[in-house]
Amino acid sequence: ISNIKCELDMLSKGGSASAQYEVDTFPWSDEMMSKLRSVFKIEDFRSYQKAAVNATMNNLDCLLIMPTGGGKSLCFQLPAILSKGITLVVSPLISLMEDQLQSMKELGIHTALFNSNTSREETKFIFDSMINPSATLKLLYVTPEKLAKSKRLMSQLEKAYRANRFARLVIDEVHCCSQWGHDFRPDYKFLGIMKTQYPKTPIIGLTATATPNVIIDVQKILNIEGSLVFKDTFFRPNLKYEVLDCGEASKIEDIANLINTRFPKQSGIIYCLTIKDCEEVSEKLRTFKIRAARYHAQLEPEKRTEIQKKWYNNEVQVIVATVAFGMGINKLDVRYVIHHSMSKSVENYYQETGRAGRDGNPAHCILFFKFGDSFRASSLMFTEKNGVVNVYNMLKYSLDRSNCRKGLLAQHFGDAWELSGCGEMCDNCDMKSSGSNQYQEINAGPLLDDIDSILDHASHLEERMTALKLMDAWLGKGNKKLRVETVATPKFNRQTCETIVALLLIDGFLKEEFHFTPYSTISYIVAGAKVVLRSNGKISQDIQYQIPLSIVNPSKAKTSKKPTTSSSSVKEKDTNSKHSSSSSPKKSTPRVHKE
Ligand code: ADP
Ligand code: MG
Ligand code: ZN
Repeated sequence: ISNIKCELDMLSKGGSASAQYEVDTFPWSDEMMSKLRSVFKIEDFRSYQKAAVNATMNNLDCLLIMPTGGGKSLCFQLPAILSKGITLVVSPLISLMEDQLQSMKELGIHTALFNSNTSREETKFIFDSMINPSATLKLLYVTPEKLAKSKRLMSQLEKAYRANRFARLVIDEVHCCSQWGHDFRPDYKFLGIMKTQYPKTPIIGLTATATPNVIIDVQKILNIEGSLVFKDTFFRPNLKYEVLDCGEASKIEDIANLINTRFPKQSGIIYCLTIKDCEEVSEKLRTFKIRAARYHAQLEPEKRTEIQKKWYNNEVQVIVATVAFGMGINKLDVRYVIHHSMSKSVENYYQETGRAGRDGNPAHCILFFKFGDSFRASSLMFTEKNGVVNVYNMLKYSLDRSNCRKGLLAQHFGDAWELSGCGEMCDNCDMKSSGSNQYQEINAGPLLDDIDSILDHASHLEERMTALKLMDAWLGKGNKKLRVETVATPKFNRQTCETIVALLLIDGFLKEEFHFTPYSTISYIVAGAKVVLRSNGKISQDIQYQIPLSIVNPSKAKTSKKPTTSSSSVKEKDTNSKHSSSSSPKKSTPRVHKE
């Protein structure tokens, strides 16, 4: 796997693979440029479009990874009109297909859609076009369900293939193949047989999901290991990323104030973890005179379409949504995407925030972070493959108060990144440039010993400890019987203690255990696997964490324009050098894992 990863890295950074497909000396090059202009009315290609078109015209399998709105569709629509026969397009959503059908019609490209509503006559016409050498039909859109179910379609494809008329297989939103992705569709698995059935038909997969392990998984599932990968940069210079800490009680109020002061009358999206949150947030926002509407999977499709329309027309200012709101959203002037709770993975977060600022004007991505949300997320996600790991990666991102947020995202997606930062397009770089980027070094070793005593004590009492109960017992609050006399109340504020517990969880010194109740899943904190290593002396007793001053001592951190030196334990560090921490035993506040 690491070999393929290297290759992916090379492809994404050097773009060396694309160079040989950027040339204009292919037999179709002239016609390609003239049709680009005459049919699509597009003056020139964007980066990677030409390479992708040339590669697929060369009958090579390839994956094209570009941010949403980048122009992936052109990379199969143009080849479709340059090739003999039919281009089959698998796409997960009828609404996406209908949009494309409409725009193809406007460009005069003969296109059809085959789904469960397709009439008998239309079906007959489509099937005939697939094998008829004089047919004008160029693009055929199908849902993966239809492809998996319709034996007639597969048999007709076979005939088309034998007649050299199955020009190309396009798989839109190709990440839906992979369970590692953020949008797994079981029916996409069926696509694995296409390469075996039609080996000479080139496959082109399109997605905006760039995580290397998803890409590798997709190649495996589609049987196109070693295919070309064209990857555009994921850097969106106009998006500003921020994480705000918030208290439980005032969260929705804080969001309302934020919208009313920073984004009055501007269009936005608020993402929530659950349908219940969604309902509650939208209702409460309306009491602040914000035109908010909810959007989630339990609403009737008609209702969802209606809300979406109103939002497009700006009759609704803010959509309060679950993950159900996403694919196919194409409103350009979304000025802010607010996360009421953290997403279930960094992928999800990136996709969701990526819906802001499609018009290229400045837009804001603001995450409201609360310690407890992480446990809500992990309880929802633990039954899914990699669910908890994904949540912890998101948690790391949320806790990070020193590294450039765009750098963290770039690293996560294996994108090249300049260490110089984002030009103040994230809160952490802002902090750094205001000089208040400092942290306090805290040895969490003795604190972990205390936490372990509390957990031990609880297990003797046959009590299970939620994160909340643990925090209370540690801080000398709540149920007296859960406290341990020998454990001193920590001298840090609650948020610092919460951050330390979160880091200990991420690092495996603590662990979550999940239990089902008839109504929900509850997360309990127990000792982690690493505790044994530590008590055996296999790893150091000390666990050094660098907790930003903005957490340890927020009032000081906010007011200081210049680095303060009042506290001897506060050190200023150059957090720009991400590479320095890997070999040292000291750990900077959350590091983002490379896959
Ligand atoms: P994606 O599928 O990557 O999200 P689309 O294929 O829907 O993006 O394209 C987004 C928009 O960009 C479309 O309106 C398309 O016409 C336009 N577009 C694509 N390529 C170019 C180009 N080279 N120059 C100008 N506009 C383009
Ligand atoms: Mg698309
Ligand atoms: Zn930054």
